[in-house]
Amino acid sequence: MNVELLDYDSLQKVVNAARISHGSESDDMGTRDRKLIAKLIELGHESVLEHCAYSFKIEGVSRALLQELVRHRIASYTVRSTRFTLKEIAKDEDIKNAGALSDYRIIVERYCVVPDLPEETLKEYYINTAMNLKNIYKFLSEYKLRNDLVKYLLPESFKTELMMTVNVRSLRNFLRLRLSRKALWEIRELALKMFEVLPKDHQILYEDLGLSTEP
Ligand SMILES: Cc1cc2nc3c(=O)[nH]c(=O)nc-3n(C[C@H](O)[C@H](O)[C@H](O)COP(=O)(O)OP(=O)(O)OC[C@H]3O[C@@H](n4cnc5c(N)ncnc54)[C@H](O)[C@@H]3O)c2cc1C
Repeated sequence: MNVELLDYDSLQKVVNAARISHGSESDDMGTRDRKLIAKLIELGHESVLEHCAYSFKIEGVSRALLQELVRHRIASYTVRSTRFTLKEIAKDEDIKNAGALSDYRIIVERYCVVPDLPEETLKEYYINTAMNLKNIYKFLSEYKLRNDLVKYLLPESFKTELMMTVNVRSLRNFLRLRLSRKALWEIRELALKMFEVLPKDHQILYEDLGLSTEP
């Protein structure tokens, strides 16, 4: 999984909103501004946080994760079309030629997320998932079936990529829910990476959540 912060708004936007609300002057992120932000968060006056947003590029996550991620409605998403990925599979002769466990491993890791399975079951996972990829290849390249039919064969572990734009208020909600140990391991890993790529001066917006970044 790879997470990149493509773009983000300045913290000053939160301060500007806060200062409009309070009819007072900013001190350029000095003690007074920092105190005001912390106070507004404490009071639950969180609309000021909606003016500041981030755009993330997220690669190498599963469709299983995707369906949990997009339940977070207060965000914008653009996801890679499966049609394009299926076109790549249709041309990938490594899938057709794979015959040994080492080949299966390569093609599975190319297209699917591999969960942290116990060693004794990992081999079976590689074999089963590789057979699934071989079927997808056959349906596309030999039977010439349309992508929108073949996509029904895709496993939940199939990798995708997306761009997500989310404001601070919604990201706080996301991080609170998904950094929890109760969350799916993969979305927890994503939440952790998103948190880690945030600009350092934005930490003040998340301090009260007491988020744990321990793996
Ligand atoms: C550990 C865990 C287990 C889960 N298990 C399941 C499960 O088994 N089944 C399942 O279906 N989902 C499950 N979910 C998903 C969960 O129910 C939420 O859909 C998901 O976390 C998105 O959260 P959200 O609605 O707060 O986020 P957003 O959709 O981003 O909403 C943000 C906030 O906006 C407000 N809001 C948004 N829309 C509305 C609305 N229509 N009405 C009122 N307020 C609104 C709410 O305050 C909400 O918290 C699980 C989530 C977690 C973290």
